[in-house]
Amino acid sequence: MRPFETASFYFDQAAEVMGLSSNMRVLLMTPLREVKVQVSLEMDDGQIRTFIGYRTQHDRARGPMKGGLRYHPQVDEDEVRALAALMTWKTAVVNIPYGGAKGGIGVDVQRLSLGELERITRRFVDELHDVVGPDKDIPAPDMGTNAQVMAWFMSQYEKYHGFNPACVTGKPVELHGAEGREEATGRGVAHLTRRLLEKQGRPVTDARVAIQGFGNVGTFTASFLHAMGAKVVAITDAYGGVANPRGLDILALLKHATEKGRVSGFPEAEPVTNDELLTADVDVLIPAAIGGVLNAENAKSVRAKFIVEAANGPTEPEADEIFSQRGILVLPDILANAGGVTVSYFEWVQNRQHFKWQRERVREELDRIMAESFDRVMQIAEEKKVSLRVAAYILGIGRVGRATVLAGL
Ligand code: NAD
Repeated sequence: MRPFETASFYFDQAAEVMGLSSNMRVLLMTPLREVKVQVSLEMDDGQIRTFIGYRTQHDRARGPMKGGLRYHPQVDEDEVRALAALMTWKTAVVNIPYGGAKGGIGVDVQRLSLGELERITRRFVDELHDVVGPDKDIPAPDMGTNAQVMAWFMSQYEKYHGFNPACVTGKPVELHGAEGREEATGRGVAHLTRRLLEKQGRPVTDARVAIQGFGNVGTFTASFLHAMGAKVVAITDAYGGVANPRGLDILALLKHATEKGRVSGFPEAEPVTNDELLTADVDVLIPAAIGGVLNAENAKSVRAKFIVEAANGPTEPEADEIFSQRGILVLPDILANAGGVTVSYFEWVQNRQHFKWQRERVREELDRIMAESFDRVMQIAEEKKVSLRVAAYILGIGRVGRATVLAGL
């Protein structure tokens, strides 16, 4: 299934339980605006290359639209549209006053020099600056982008619109960024993993965990879970992976991955492939990289009892159905990885008030919002006897639907 078909499937599953009319379904799923732009730049070798950039603004019923910028070869119209819709439900699940959007460029960042990365970002902003902004649509980091890319984004946006730190979030702390933003998604994933396990009467200290992806989300998820006493036994990235049944030394692995640009080759561990990691003998599986990795082919072989979706859209509907039949609990992306957008919201609030919060305040507010949202989703799942994914969608769609009806067309 293509990503938007998957996103529509999950939406319809919840809409069915909610008894939403077909007109309301079309209204809520149709993106508000989709922008596709040419991003041409001169490469270091003097050649001109042209890439395609996308921004989909899905819904603004609850506030300005919010969503990441992804630089990855797989980025296309369909993926961006799906991810934008996910952002609409996600911001509603954690009840922050935003709608949903997503954007990106179909490019392999590993093949770009730092200078090319800066130029591609500035050219993208040249084409996009009219349709985004602090009251319209606020980008943030996603796969292939980071705080430095957000700094260039802000700098270029300000060339057109003047001082405007709230036009983008996930900026460096030294440049209007928020303390605790970089760790936020991984912190939220780790905290909800612990809450989910405890709810099932299983202490986190007994848990063996496998994580796919060792970028922003994967590294912080691994670090927080390791600090909580869980055993992280396998980790992969785009180039392969490493496993150790006694638990990986996450601090040492971080140092290794920073130096080598990958986890492979880490001493005191066995090599493991991405396919092997997904079906490893663990308690918790955390996909934290690309979408669609859990599908009809591998779902029957997954041995984890819990899947925590740190990545966006890692589970295809056929796999979701198999997991549900097999009693494997899936904590859905629109709840599990909402810590990032939550702290992005705190950053935006701080930028607009010109007042900086301490890291402890950020962490406290984040933990409170994540725990409350988790408990609300659990409650809906129990009341309506539906999966955690359907429950999260019911919560998100319900809030967006009510805002839409109250404001009127
Ligand atoms: P990142 O670019 O920092 O890291 C991505 C990681 O995935 C890297 O380790 C990379 O090697 C690995 N990877 C890429 N392609 C892969 C493949 N084919 N197989 C296995 N591994 C692969 O990205 P990130 O910000 O950590 O985002 C990871 C996921 O989390 C994405 O799905 C993103 O949408 C989601 N997410 C990120 C945030 C955030 O705050 N950054 C928030 C919510 C959700």
